[in-house]
Amino acid sequence: MAPSLLSSLTPNGAFSPPRRIGSNPRVRVRIGVRSSSLPADLAPIPSRFAFDAVSEAELKEKGFMGLRKTKLVCTVGPACCSDSDLERLARGGMSVARLNMCHNTREWHRGVIRAVKKLNQEKGFCLSLMMDTEGGQLIMVDHGSSSTVKAEDGSEWLFTTNKFENSPPFTIQINFEGFSEGIIEGDELVIDGGMATFEVVEKVGNDLRCKCTDPGLLLPRAKLSFWRNGELVNRNFVLPTLSTKDWADIEFGIGEGVDCIAVSLVKDDKDIKYLKNYLSRRSLDYVKVFAKIESLESLRNLKDIVEASDGIMVARGDLGVQIPIEQIPAIQQEITHLCRQLNKPVIIASHLLESMVEYPTPTRAEVADVSEAVRQYTDALMLSAESAIGSHAEKALSILRMSSGRMEMWTREENRQSVLSQDQLSVSLPDRIAEQICFCAGEMANNLCVDAIFVFTKHGHMASLLSRNRPNPPIFAFTDDANARKNMNLYWGVFPLELPLSNDIGDNIKQTMSLMKSRGTLKSGDVVLVVSDSDLNRPCAAPSVFQSIQVRTVS
Ligand code: PGA
Ligand code: MN
Repeated sequence: MAPSLLSSLTPNGAFSPPRRIGSNPRVRVRIGVRSSSLPADLAPIPSRFAFDAVSEAELKEKGFMGLRKTKLVCTVGPACCSDSDLERLARGGMSVARLNMCHNTREWHRGVIRAVKKLNQEKGFCLSLMMDTEGGQLIMVDHGSSSTVKAEDGSEWLFTTNKFENSPPFTIQINFEGFSEGIIEGDELVIDGGMATFEVVEKVGNDLRCKCTDPGLLLPRAKLSFWRNGELVNRNFVLPTLSTKDWADIEFGIGEGVDCIAVSLVKDDKDIKYLKNYLSRRSLDYVKVFAKIESLESLRNLKDIVEASDGIMVARGDLGVQIPIEQIPAIQQEITHLCRQLNKPVIIASHLLESMVEYPTPTRAEVADVSEAVRQYTDALMLSAESAIGSHAEKALSILRMSSGRMEMWTREENRQSVLSQDQLSVSLPDRIAEQICFCAGEMANNLCVDAIFVFTKHGHMASLLSRNRPNPPIFAFTDDANARKNMNLYWGVFPLELPLSNDIGDNIKQTMSLMKSRGTLKSGDVVLVVSDSDLNRPCAAPSVFQSIQVRTVS
């Protein structure tokens, strides 16, 4: 922080009178600078004040600029599903626990969901739950729990839709009857994007007899793709994006109270709109829908999908099966950029620290890949197998935490004061004003080197707009809506806090500063830029929406 800049702030400066902007009488903008007068006896902490234990501890230890902005998602699997495993991940910086419905039973997932909720309730975490659908894809049916099978070079295997209790040797069950439709002798069958490769030697009815040409592991529920002359074989059948099983999983997830659904193998915006409408009709709008970009079709319809979704996952694993892998870096950057333009959080997923599934340290190349995603200002990074089945889940998470913190610091030093400017997103005047306020707030925060940004927000929209310009100070987003708080977990640089808010912005500022101070997370002399779009408790369309930027020095 630069003290010379801060000393130029006017203590006790009065608010400028409200000014009318344009011809819209409903929106008034106030910009003011003042020192906040906290009562000597600090306000009692309301029972509903919730600051998650990890951010609070990090803030006390490292100060405002030490707070990591990039959010971390961990896939929960057998290697990290006990209460104590989950708690260690939460303490290690996980904000979102992902349940991959490709694996494990619903009963197993129910146990994880309940364990995560219990941690939130009893230990003061603010973890969100993301349910990831299996999606319409060709996969190998689970061949028993302890059975990671290795295919040796030259060995012959039967890929079949016959059902077995325990598969006979060299036999693989496939989940879809028509899987071999259009496949001919000589085609290549690739497992999990290259884990192992086979050549089709004979078609027997619907089944395929294949010879292993590139040995490797056949993991449970591995994915299949077919190639001919170096190109993906186009199939006539279309597996639905959301299968009957996916809908049953979604029902289950909603019933158990997940916060977010990630939809696998999205083809276009219709898939997303359909699910969002379904949730909306059941008054479940707070359950957010993320689209996984992992197919050629999803790339063709990218903008529409991003617009329709609440967020995006760049699922590089399957994407790398469908497009030449050398194109992945450019596509990742393009998607990340588009998501920020359209104000949607984006998660970079798959193979971030893949070698750590087995080894206790990552490759240097993996750390460079993680750092590049952070440099592109992704909202979140995700662990898959590293946490779900790996031997070093906690350590992998700490590598993400440290690498992202380091790269964020470096980008801040490089960029100094500039915020990321974005194209105008909104159409209506009130929305454009909100966008401008948040852009200017970010610029002011950087130029004045304030310690923190506070935003009072009902649904998290203003917090997302602030995050969009990637300002230097952390954004503390106060809301009285528990679901909005969980949804902000995936916004870059946003630390969501829950407490009852009043309609009076002055009271809210006083209350939050007083609370933060009483918890030792704010001290005299700290400078906070406050953004508000209250009246918080009025419906959005109600008249008289006050929007303000204020700079306050904590007294
Ligand atoms: P998955 O999706 O882990 O569900 O396969 C991620 C990816 O394909 O990268
Ligand atoms: Mn995938």
